[in-house]
Amino acid sequence: MILGNVCTRPCGFCSVPKGKTEELEADEPERVAEAAKRLGLAHVVITSVTRDDLADGGAEHFARTIAAVRDESGAVVEVLVPDFLGKPGALETVMAARPDVFNHNTETVPRLYREVRGRKSRYPWTLQLLADAKRLMPEVKTKSGLMLGLGETRDELLEVFADLLDHKVDFLTLGQYLQPTLDSLPVDRYVPPEEFDELGSLAREMGFANVASGPLVRSSYHAREMHEGA
Ligand code: SF4
Repeated sequence: MILGNVCTRPCGFCSVPKGKTEELEADEPERVAEAAKRLGLAHVVITSVTRDDLADGGAEHFARTIAAVRDESGAVVEVLVPDFLGKPGALETVMAARPDVFNHNTETVPRLYREVRGRKSRYPWTLQLLADAKRLMPEVKTKSGLMLGLGETRDELLEVFADLLDHKVDFLTLGQYLQPTLDSLPVDRYVPPEEFDELGSLAREMGFANVASGPLVRSSYHAREMHEGA
């Protein structure tokens, strides 16, 4: 996770500290690349806090990290990015570094967006970012994920699946929301494993190239296998 430890968004499901952000560490891309090399990683997922305070939302730092990891370690590079608040040129900067997989999480259904993600995140922006990434670089696999158990309905989920497919998303992850702290959003319900299986099958039938669905699935769950089509 790059761009510091403090986030500028107030998502109620996430325990990453919010508040005053830190200075960017200029050598972070090279240090991440060195770590990937020394660990012998074949597939690296790079994510970040959201940095609305930076002019480009941290896009250039992402791009430098993608390039450094690829050059230094030769690994497949997957990014899980924020929406960059729609800052002009930010997405283009990231895509120009040619990540192998571009992930931006939907997190929840549109009705719950404000409650779960806060007022600076919008469902249409999420869809647009994913569609724009595919438009800019059609060969890059796009990916998105949702947490279940926040109060969404089955019909709402199916509508989101259809929207993501309309916006050319290739891969989908579905996992159970777990409350990270007592102050975080409560769990509305625990979704049984069979329901995850069924939703995963439905999503595959609807057209996703690959789906990971289960209580413990997270954005980077078996990311390498998903990218390789396993
Ligand atoms: S934007 Fe990401 S890191 Fe920041 S609070 Fe939300 S989920 Fe957590």
